[in-house]
Amino acid sequence: MTVRTRFAPSPTGHLHVGGVRTALYSWLYAKRHDGQFILRIEDTDRERSTQASVQAILDGMAWLGLEADEGPYYQTQHFDRYQEVLDQFLAAGHAYRCYCSKERLEQLREQQIENKEKPRYDQHCRHLKLAHRDEPYVVRFNNPVEGEVLIKDMVLGDVVFQNAELDDLIIARSDGTPTYNFTVVVDDMDMKVTHVIRGNDHINNTPRQINMLKALGVTPPEYAHIPMILGSDGKRLSKRHGAVSVLQFKEEGYLPQALLNYLVRLGWSHGDQEIFSLEEMCQLFDIHNVNKSAAAFDTEKLLWLNQHYLKTLPEAEVARHLAWHMQQAELEVDDGPSLEAVVLALRERVKTLKEMAEKAKIFYRPLANYDETAANKFLIQDTLAPLMDIKQRLEAIDDWQVETIKAAVQQTLAQFELKMPKLAQPLRVAMTGNTISPSIDVTLYLLGKPKVLNRIKSAGEFIQTGA
Ligand code: GLU
Repeated sequence: MTVRTRFAPSPTGHLHVGGVRTALYSWLYAKRHDGQFILRIEDTDRERSTQASVQAILDGMAWLGLEADEGPYYQTQHFDRYQEVLDQFLAAGHAYRCYCSKERLEQLREQQIENKEKPRYDQHCRHLKLAHRDEPYVVRFNNPVEGEVLIKDMVLGDVVFQNAELDDLIIARSDGTPTYNFTVVVDDMDMKVTHVIRGNDHINNTPRQINMLKALGVTPPEYAHIPMILGSDGKRLSKRHGAVSVLQFKEEGYLPQALLNYLVRLGWSHGDQEIFSLEEMCQLFDIHNVNKSAAAFDTEKLLWLNQHYLKTLPEAEVARHLAWHMQQAELEVDDGPSLEAVVLALRERVKTLKEMAEKAKIFYRPLANYDETAANKFLIQDTLAPLMDIKQRLEAIDDWQVETIKAAVQQTLAQFELKMPKLAQPLRVAMTGNTISPSIDVTLYLLGKPKVLNRIKSAGEFIQTGA
């Protein structure tokens, strides 16, 4: 048997990290078993589905590298097929037309609530076996009335539902459109899905879907219902808690490796290992070890992982992601140091790519003017001679490296018997307009020799002429 899993988001909003974790687990399960991972967009709810949301799903999955082996499929392209199975169901007596009016259903509901019974359809039309009438109707599934459905859930263990508790659910609305539970059943069957991994908010749908699959004569897939992700206050993770959409995490400067590593560990463990490469996840991930109980999202831990990956991934890989942030900040990176050099210089000092891009700005922007306070304090007569001295020494460097720059700085300090800040601060102001920059040798190195010499010259002129 070839393992086939699917991720089946409804494109009605952003791609939530909870959904991403479901996708990741499905993806890993397929990889671990040399299987296939399918992406299926469940867009039949035309009022709530949007193209922007479809795009956010595709972009999010691409950014994370969770490539689908098949798809994206779109349920809106399968309407003919749903109709075909619906007709089969009706012909075989697995479903029936229900002509009950809204008023009747409302009355029934009120009555049941009054009698302290669970509100449910009373199978009125099922028993009448009505001939087709020219009136509006919905189609209901003939749910078995006896027996039970046992789900051997890979995460929750055995979960039992009594058929007597399940409704004859509506599988096609009065406008003819199929409902969620029905389209999922048809697609899971047609796509030969062997393992359904999804959020445990779907657990009540599962017995209904299993009964329909059985009516179709197919063996239901295996199921794994994974718990929700909670916010730090124990409530379901939502916008109130901060970033929840995967693209927001991208914008905030997280690496996909960090987010994937964080999400795989959220509710699953392998001993006390914290760091997992994607290859390791594929080898080690076991759906049976996923926790039954919900886990809380911990931004600090995600940041820690992000820092880890910023420091340890190949610089070219980090630079590729940094490039996106530089673009967002509308920085032209051709005129400046290579992004790899920036990554190497700054990776130890930041927690996110966004911070890195922020710090890197100065290497790509022309120096417009000096911050007044900084200039009044550091671009003054006292600092002119040391600045001119370092300029000469830097000019003489052939091999422009952090080490050679550092040596030149040390020589000027010794020459004038200065402590580091007395030289570094005026240099910073000369380079960036203010006193904020990475360490001075790294700053000079990244700016490059021509710009450095030019800017020291300008600072010297400013000291002498005030302009
Ligand atoms: N489309 C459903 C949702 O986004 C998921 C369906 C499923 O996984 O069976 O909640």
